Amino acid sequence: MPKKGMPLHTKIIIGLVAGVLFALVSSNFGFSKFTIDYINPFGTIFINALKLIAVPLVLFSIIKGIIGLKDASSLGRIGIKTLGIYLVTTMVAVSVGLLIVNIFQPGKQIDEKQRVEYRKDYERWAYAEGKTIKDDIRLLPIGGENLASDAPKSKSEVEKQVESKMQTAKATKEAGPLQMLVDMVPSNLFNALGNNGLMLQVIVFALFFGIVLLKIEDEKKIHVVGFVDGMNEVFLKMVDVLMKGAPFFVFALLAGKISEMAGDDPSAVIEIFKGLGWYSLVVIVGLAFMVFVFYPLLLISVVKKVGYFQFFKAMGPAQMLAFSTSSSAATLPVTMDCVQDNLGVSKKITSFVLPIGATVNMDGTSLYQAVAVVFLAQMHMVDLSLEQQTLIVLTATLASIGSAAVPSAGLIMLIIVLESVGLNPAWIAIIFPVDRILDMCRTVVNVTGDAAVSTIIASTEENKS
Ligand code: ASP
Repeated sequence: MPKKGMPLHTKIIIGLVAGVLFALVSSNFGFSKFTIDYINPFGTIFINALKLIAVPLVLFSIIKGIIGLKDASSLGRIGIKTLGIYLVTTMVAVSVGLLIVNIFQPGKQIDEKQRVEYRKDYERWAYAEGKTIKDDIRLLPIGGENLASDAPKSKSEVEKQVESKMQTAKATKEAGPLQMLVDMVPSNLFNALGNNGLMLQVIVFALFFGIVLLKIEDEKKIHVVGFVDGMNEVFLKMVDVLMKGAPFFVFALLAGKISEMAGDDPSAVIEIFKGLGWYSLVVIVGLAFMVFVFYPLLLISVVKKVGYFQFFKAMGPAQMLAFSTSSSAATLPVTMDCVQDNLGVSKKITSFVLPIGATVNMDGTSLYQAVAVVFLAQMHMVDLSLEQQTLIVLTATLASIGSAAVPSAGLIMLIIVLESVGLNPAWIAIIFPVDRILDMCRTVVNVTGDAAVSTIIASTEENKS
């Protein structure tokens, strides 16, 4: 048992490592089913409890944050700054992704003969879809051949999952250009509160409520302000209580997830990684660059009082939780706790900047999307032009804004990025096997990015309102 006084993040690391080891032992000795049936549910309980807290916490903390402002104009200033910096960091992330995938070219590490076959498949698909192929290598006669070989085979589990993801993406794509704006305004508050996927609607309601509250005389709003304040404290306290059990819950989450992947054959995890090793490595190198170089340096250069190691010590619990839950929404309560208590950012800023960041700022997701698209193109011998790569920067930025802060959301939006440059969206099936692990890593980046930006905004706001 960890000694009393051991910092929380150390205990969580122990939970994390113990979870991985337990999963490996259980699959080696053939009791994965036990782990899935009796350990995994505790991980699910933890994620449910975190999500339970996230929505009301966002609601009350945004309202409280606005009450703390002197007037609506400072809200406008912070809002514009927040969105602007979020946009810049996301674009940096996509560019880093594009740069490293073009340098390391993971798609070209695949056996040449295999790539020729992939290219033929791509040409068949493009012909069947009536798409023009932009580059000039053409391995099949125009008109394709063997279209019959694409006849439907019986569907595997992965194919079914990929198909349902494609349907979700199709629905998103078919909506009009302003649909995103329409979706932000709730028509029923309780509906918005009742669905974790509608966090943006809750944010819009909270902003509206808070701004209106600013316009009401003090004596008339005194009870509402007290209520919001008290509720905010209760939900923050819930986070503290829940986090005491985090090391155990993280253990359960990791043991459960890895057992699900490996079954009773631990080498399955290694097999999954073998084929997609280079691609995964490039994504991980890019994500590591963001976490260990980009954010800390940006932070140190703007916020002089936060040191390199201090930043990681402060954010450790949130980062580890992001890794184990793969959800920035579920991690949000803890992110807020860490930024407030450990980095000393005022509630006024965190309550506003972090919930918005968790929903719209996903640097890890956008970086991964850029790498994935170019990797898949390289693997199919498709050379993307500069113009297409620029389009990737734009669509990956928008797709990451549109991704929900839940596991696998980035994979769904990847379909849209692939389609934007005329590639086959069904290729997500290729990278599907390693997606969960990369999801865990990119969620760490998403959360770290939000924390860094909120600390920067706080430092620029120090002498104002
Ligand atoms: N799981 C990520 C998050 O919640 C989103 C994604 O990239 O799938 O931040």
